[in-house]
Amino acid sequence: MKNYDVIIVGAGPAGIFAALELVSSGRGIKILLIEKGRELEKRICPSGTKGIFCNECPQCSLLCGWGGAGAFSDGKLTLSKDTGGNLLRYIDSRALDELLKYVDDIYVKYGAPSKVYGDDAGKVEDLKRLASANGLTLIPSKIRHIGTDMCPSVLKNMKLALNSNIDIIFSEDVTSILFEKDKAVGVKTKGGDIFHSDFVVIAPGREGALWLEEQARAMGLSLLKNPVDIGVRVELPADVMSPLTEVVYEPKLIFQSKTFNDRARTFCVNPYGEVVKEYVKGIWTVNGHSYSKKKTENTNFAILVSTSFTEPFDEPHLYGRSIAYLTNLLGRGIILQRLGDLHAGRRSNVKRISDGRVKPTLSEATPGDLSFALPYRYVSDILEMLEAMDKIAPGVNSDDTLLYGVEVKFYSRQIKLDSNLETEIRNLFAVGDGAGVSRGLIQSSASGVIAAREILGRIGTKA
Ligand SMILES: Cc1cc2nc3c(=O)[nH]c(=O)nc-3n(C[C@H](O)[C@H](O)[C@H](O)COP(=O)(O)OP(=O)(O)OC[C@H]3O[C@@H](n4cnc5c(N)ncnc54)[C@H](O)[C@@H]3O)c2cc1C
Repeated sequence: MKNYDVIIVGAGPAGIFAALELVSSGRGIKILLIEKGRELEKRICPSGTKGIFCNECPQCSLLCGWGGAGAFSDGKLTLSKDTGGNLLRYIDSRALDELLKYVDDIYVKYGAPSKVYGDDAGKVEDLKRLASANGLTLIPSKIRHIGTDMCPSVLKNMKLALNSNIDIIFSEDVTSILFEKDKAVGVKTKGGDIFHSDFVVIAPGREGALWLEEQARAMGLSLLKNPVDIGVRVELPADVMSPLTEVVYEPKLIFQSKTFNDRARTFCVNPYGEVVKEYVKGIWTVNGHSYSKKKTENTNFAILVSTSFTEPFDEPHLYGRSIAYLTNLLGRGIILQRLGDLHAGRRSNVKRISDGRVKPTLSEATPGDLSFALPYRYVSDILEMLEAMDKIAPGVNSDDTLLYGVEVKFYSRQIKLDSNLETEIRNLFAVGDGAGVSRGLIQSSASGVIAAREILGRIGTKA
């Protein structure tokens, strides 16, 4: 048993930024960071080295370890408070603007490039008008792009800054949060170790969202509902999307579907990028990224649909997993379909894909039929949105456009938090994607800073 001032669970951006903020105070605060994955250098996915689809490792190296899901992410820093998370629910707009700038500056200090996309106001306004005239809402956002190849070095620099200031334990799961009389007092690990602290910051990411939900239930914390976002990853020639991506890099478009009145949106646009698979606790979903130097001929992006479910249903996370499971069952992993085949009510096969103009960057996806797995509601919403997008970027709705399924974003459970991201248990803070407060690098990092600042205000006073 060892005593700390602060224990942080999870070394993703939220946990790392909480640690950086605490250390930057120069007050010699005793911090322990516990991460169930490995150090950055040891995060090697065996599917790459062994040439297999997936080793089904207990800790996925792509998502767990130093840097969390951010380590091999596309590294697009979305410098807008309107996307990438829900922090506007907790702090006011002006304070959030300042906080995002503060966080962005830290990324640049540790090696993010200085170039920012989307700052030509005139062109952005023209695009906004064009989108609006065609039933789409464009949310303008400036983007700083680190790139998948550069993310590890930025995170490595952050680790070097923290190394001599905090204790870090890798390859150890925190299994429970300890509390006494409604106040957090430490954590217990899988190995049976108990660590005591005055404050606990939980930052387990999407990877640990289910674990956090179980913990919250066990501690009697109030849970709020959150929708699950389900959709597909779209891949097409980069030239088709360039009228949009050259202006804003990541066009964030929102569409209200006509048939079901659902909200569909573009997400994680990767100009000249690659489609990748993502392993989440026994299921495969799709994602995408792009490099800062290496370029493909394609651009990919997700179309995600948010819906409200009918009562008494209350398991959005399980619903999303079940849809992904269906695609995995049918395709032995990810399913790939040409848009023309989906329209024609037929499966894609190897020949139809290879005859198409767009060469898939995720070559191991299985040609098939997404309509066996995706409910009609989602297919209909996605097809309507592609049709609308075709009017502002002609070619989006072409037969050769590729759809990979499914992409699922598990934001399932939000824990009730106050404006400092403190739970109903005193001195227990929940930050980042796992707590449902963020959906991206910048806001997850900012949420770690919010908790750390509150802790700094209380340390040394009556905790
Ligand atoms: C392929 C991909 C591309 C992406 N591209 C972008 C992008 O371009 N731009 C963007 O803004 N966002 C992107 N994201 C999302 C971004 O990576 C996440 O929003 C961000 O990493 C969330 O940070 P976090 O700290 O909340 O959680 P995470 O980064 O998921 O980190 C959580 C950490 O906690 C650890 N953990 C979980 N449970 C426990 C436990 N019980 N005990 C100990 N440790 C635990 C995990 O191992 C993990 O390392 C991408 C994500 C992926 C997967």
